[in-house]
Amino acid sequence: MVETDSNKCKRCGQCMSVCPVYLTTFREDDVARGKLALLERVEAGAMNRSKRFEEILSRCLLCGACAQVCANQVQTSRIMQAGRQRLFELEKSGQAESALLRVVREGRLSAKGLLKGGALLQALACRKIPESSGLYLRFPLSYFTERRTVPPIAWNPFIHAFKSESSVETDGPRIGLFVGCGANYLFPDVARALVGILKRLGATLVVPENQVCCGLPAYVSGDTKTAQKLAKKNIEAFESLELDAILSVCASCGSHLKALPSLFSDEPASRDAASSIAKKHMDAMTFLVNHLGIEKYLKSLRPAKSEERTTLRVAYHDPCHLRIGQGVTDSPRRLLKALPGVELLETAHPGQCCGHGGDFNLSHFSLSMEILNRRVTDLDKVQPDTIVTGCTGCLLQLTEGVSRGGLSGRIEVCHPLVLAEKVIESCLTPTRRRQDPPISQAQHTGAGQ
Ligand code: SF4
Ligand code: SF4
Repeated sequence: MVETDSNKCKRCGQCMSVCPVYLTTFREDDVARGKLALLERVEAGAMNRSKRFEEILSRCLLCGACAQVCANQVQTSRIMQAGRQRLFELEKSGQAESALLRVVREGRLSAKGLLKGGALLQALACRKIPESSGLYLRFPLSYFTERRTVPPIAWNPFIHAFKSESSVETDGPRIGLFVGCGANYLFPDVARALVGILKRLGATLVVPENQVCCGLPAYVSGDTKTAQKLAKKNIEAFESLELDAILSVCASCGSHLKALPSLFSDEPASRDAASSIAKKHMDAMTFLVNHLGIEKYLKSLRPAKSEERTTLRVAYHDPCHLRIGQGVTDSPRRLLKALPGVELLETAHPGQCCGHGGDFNLSHFSLSMEILNRRVTDLDKVQPDTIVTGCTGCLLQLTEGVSRGGLSGRIEVCHPLVLAEKVIESCLTPTRRRQDPPISQAQHTGAGQ
């Protein structure tokens, strides 16, 4: 067995009600129950291992929704992850060949893809982004051929840009920011928004230059050794800084930082160091709400008087890595509700996955788009002006979904912190006319229409 836990499955079927893959395909082998039954047969030698094994392991978003409802606490995503690690090791030793990993590493690139990829593709191809970045796993060349929206690259990544800013020491808490590849290269406005808000609330911000990718993309593709190496570099970057908290702005990075100790079950010293990082880590929105009193600050602001002013209708999408990975659902909503001039809308199926799921959107692009379409349909039904979400993977995916649904002109997609900073700015500069550029970072390529 890949992990003995799978024997605990009682085949009750409870997980069928929440699995985003099953709810799209209605295939028994896509739900936790079916996957675990097939894995048992594979392990018992009743089925050919390679192709079937790979298929079972790859058709999972590792969202964790099944474990949340499972009375027997079967950790299906962990079992799938352990299987991917095994597959990765077999592949490395030449005993197996994984299409799942191949698609991540290779991919074919058409001329259309080259045009669409633009700056991001150039940055990847020219190694302007370090090799350790998870963006190589998130954006293999094949990525550019199928998507309509490809994010522009920040030629001056956030960590480099931050160096030139004066980081003022205050009497407030001393905060370390784990930036993550998404916010560093693709959505630097998210990290900049946090910088602005922390300054207003009187915190000291430290952004270690030697931090690297959190390691999640390597981990979900089964490459645990690379994930461990990256984790050690991040531990080294943060451990001596005497911080009150370490914040992340991307739910995926954050959930991985929380789980860092589990990477080192056989290395007690690294596990202890990882635990101290994990204990200090908090999602930025949660820290702002629970420890910096941002609601009180926001409620003290008055919306700008303007003839153009109307209430902004905002729908919040719960990232799985925040809702399930970190147990955070309340603080982003509290932050949004406290924003002057913003109406928070709740959608049907609020915890539904967007279908991004690490490398799932690479290896099963069409299925990922079907899952996305269901989520965007729910979001669109509440007629939002803006969709907000606290994960850079969800930001990419939902921007794609809004584009595919023909909603790009009507709905913007951004991080709640970007919206918050924009609202604060507009309250503090009431006479300025609203000529700000669109919040959304993604560049609409218009391809595939
Ligand atoms: S809910 Fe748990 S025990 Fe029930 S079928 Fe799913 S994985 Fe098995
Ligand atoms: S982790 Fe998510 S996608 Fe995978 S089987 Fe469980 S509910 Fe389905």
